[in-house]
Amino acid sequence: TPVRTPLIAGNWKMNMDHLQGIALLQKLAWTLEDKKHDYRRAEVAVFPPFTDLRGVQTLVQGDELDVVYGGQDLSQYDSGAYTGDISGDFLSKLGCRYVLVGHSERRTIHQESDQALNAKVHAAYRHSLIPVLCVGEGLEIRQAGTHVEHTLAQLRAGVAGLSAEQAATLVVAYEPVWAIGTGEVAGPEDAQEMGAALRAELASLFDGDVAAQTRLLYGGSVKAANAAAILGQPDVDGVLVGGASLDAVEFANIVRFED
Ligand code: PEP
Repeated sequence: TPVRTPLIAGNWKMNMDHLQGIALLQKLAWTLEDKKHDYRRAEVAVFPPFTDLRGVQTLVQGDELDVVYGGQDLSQYDSGAYTGDISGDFLSKLGCRYVLVGHSERRTIHQESDQALNAKVHAAYRHSLIPVLCVGEGLEIRQAGTHVEHTLAQLRAGVAGLSAEQAATLVVAYEPVWAIGTGEVAGPEDAQEMGAALRAELASLFDGDVAAQTRLLYGGSVKAANAAAILGQPDVDGVLVGGASLDAVEFANIVRFED
């Protein structure tokens, strides 16, 4: 069976200007280094605002930090008359390894459709970025009990047209919208239920080998206090952390629980 390297990812959202971002990353790197014996397995990634990325690149490369980074979004196009958008090519040239695609805040605030997000997933691969495709249901859908169906439909739309090779490197983050920034955490069993459903769907869309390699994250009010139980689930290969990733010590403690 393939080993899925756990991914602990911090989404800074629209927080941390380029100076604050450097300070946070430095503190995170020191904290991780300090406690290195506690966690060796996980890959640690941060998703700063675009304007921080150049500084992050300089710091990570200069100090050889054991942290990777990515953009919070990318354009479905490679270049041209798309004012305000950022090409995957630019992210790739700044040393990004990952890019978030379809975070619920993009889906709702910017009305990003499943079709547009699928185009962004393909754009990411064109530029050698690994997409972290975010999926998950809102409260009404959860209450109606159709959350699995809803989330799998987002997955299918997001991965349409991918090769098996691409799908194997993909990261999917299940983030129930009602649990984001609300302090409401889905239970570890909810995270596992969706993890297993996503993996089964990937197996039927591609094959079992692919599904065994795709990393599935949970996101939604993850903190050091609840990380261990969530990360202990067999079909949860990491977490996507919002608020708690803005505190270097708290975030490092979440990394520590991956073991
Ligand atoms: C997120 O938006 O990706 C997220 C999980 O946020 P929070 O951890 O703050 O709920």
